[in-house]
Amino acid sequence: MTRTFLRSTLPVLFVCLFLTVEASGQKTLNVVTSLPDLQSIAEEIGGDRVEVSSIATGFQNPHFVDPKPSFILKLTRADVFVTIGLDLELGWVPPLLQSARNPDILPGSEGYVDASTDVPLLDVPSSVSREQGDIHLFGNPHYWLDPANGKVIAKNILRALTRLQPESADYFNENLRVFENHLDEKIEEWAEMMAPYRNQPLIAYHNQWPYLEAALGFIAVDFLEPKPGIPPTPSQLAKIIGLMKQESMNTIISSPYFKPDTAELVARNIDGSVVVLASSVGAFPEVKTYFDLFDYNVAQLIKAFDASTK
Ligand SMILES: [Zn+2]
Repeated sequence: MTRTFLRSTLPVLFVCLFLTVEASGQKTLNVVTSLPDLQSIAEEIGGDRVEVSSIATGFQNPHFVDPKPSFILKLTRADVFVTIGLDLELGWVPPLLQSARNPDILPGSEGYVDASTDVPLLDVPSSVSREQGDIHLFGNPHYWLDPANGKVIAKNILRALTRLQPESADYFNENLRVFENHLDEKIEEWAEMMAPYRNQPLIAYHNQWPYLEAALGFIAVDFLEPKPGIPPTPSQLAKIIGLMKQESMNTIISSPYFKPDTAELVARNIDGSVVVLASSVGAFPEVKTYFDLFDYNVAQLIKAFDASTK
């Protein structure tokens, strides 16, 4: 009985031992991010010395993610946690961190990264009030949608990776340099592509594009939501239809997680069109990286603007 037991378990034990040595030899840092955009950037900087996963998917509303036990488990095992911060994930990140009870990734610890550090914020309100359900209390939190901010996010991630693995500092810094150069080239390319459409006005469902507007030069004049996080009301929609007719606007931009009915209703009234942009990496199957995010959105906007002038 004992001999049979040993014969069957010994090889398993050897394999386990071997795998543990292999894993520690590679020194892979386990990075968990709130959003897939942060995952994509962390993968660029961490290269083969990190294993990165995201809690939210790219087609979910990042303000409202349902906490699941599997997310807590993920965080329990993390060496690094990267969050967008401000009040974007206020409803789900703090409870998840609290439940995971991993002291290495709590705010203030070495493995905690608030990616908004040093980001120049837009729409910072002069007074702070959550009246009427405002969910952009500390400034607009959708800052990853300006590719220039991708470089700030990357630096914040690099600092944490270097703190935890100082022997890889040169490797991480070289990855950052490559990422920044690639992004600079693409930022120039996107700006050139969008130049003929400068100051093109449109309507957005949710006020989540000011950073993309600044980067690409279009203007979201008003929103289907009367306030960020408050669903469209009949009076707001009537106001928007009037405004679009008056200003001859015909494009409404939305995100994959907003039900299409409302935006389509408005579009029908003004003979316009709805463009669903990628609000995050993973919003659509072809948007696999942080670079794809802007490639996709630039292409969609150009297609819409070209169609509207015909
Ligand atoms: Zn928002």
